[in-house]
Amino acid sequence: MSSSPLVHSLGSATRAYEQPTGGWFLNNAGWVTGRERTLVVDTLATEARSARLLDAVRKDTGHDGDQLVAAITHWHGDHAHGAIQIARAGGRLLATGHSAAMIGAGPHLFEMVFAFDGWGDVTPPKIDELVSEPTTVDLGGISADVLPVPWVAHTEGDLVVHVPSDGVLFTGDLVFVGVVPLVMAGTAEGWIKALDWLATLEHRHLVPGHGPMQGAGSTAVADLRAYLSWLLEVTAVDAPDFDALDAQARQRWASWSEGERHAVNLMKTHADQHGTTADVATLAMAMLKPFGGPIPLDI
Ligand SMILES: [Zn+2]
Repeated sequence: MSSSPLVHSLGSATRAYEQPTGGWFLNNAGWVTGRERTLVVDTLATEARSARLLDAVRKDTGHDGDQLVAAITHWHGDHAHGAIQIARAGGRLLATGHSAAMIGAGPHLFEMVFAFDGWGDVTPPKIDELVSEPTTVDLGGISADVLPVPWVAHTEGDLVVHVPSDGVLFTGDLVFVGVVPLVMAGTAEGWIKALDWLATLEHRHLVPGHGPMQGAGSTAVADLRAYLSWLLEVTAVDAPDFDALDAQARQRWASWSEGERHAVNLMKTHADQHGTTADVATLAMAMLKPFGGPIPLDI
């Protein structure tokens, strides 16, 4: 396991759990605590990492069992794989309908894409409550808003968690910082709309799905928006030179890790704009080219 996660106190009730930036499946999570309950926002990719997250939650809040509620921002395994542990502890799980269906069809380990066997027990849990409209979760003296994203953005069923009293916004994978975002399961067009919508949710602290916490003056959302706009712009033509664009992206966003995602983002965005189907297997294989085989994971 690489370097340790950081726990940030964001206001009186909210904590962010930040994993190191860069590397597939290294996402952030967090929790919001009231007198009676704790809302956990996302889990982590492996059984061991998620257990460590939940230990931190229990230690910080004193809550366990049916005092735990979890909102899973989307179905990707880094965010969802540990949800079974909350279910087994007696907690309740919230997700959108699309995420719940995808989670139920998992676990999604993408064995053709990633060389890794350290997941542990990541049995998919049943989602207890499908979130189809903005939902306020009362935690006892404090509440958090679970907000489904109205567009196909990072995936078809993203949600974000807003804690107005602490000025915190958990964006899930709507925001990546220092890491190339992954458009494979969503659309650049809807994602841009979602980013503009995020700006209307008042916050002082932004917890991205991947990368460091952001505060006032952060350019993370603008930077991401610029990247997604670029994808749309350069793939508007019928037959783009994908290799040249991939090289251009790697140069322009050289400081972002996981550069292999540019290839797939370009192909997916081109398909979306031209009404063609982007086959997931073809997209995934495009990412493997630089590795000459499955991507090794260090989680
Ligand atoms: Zn994701």
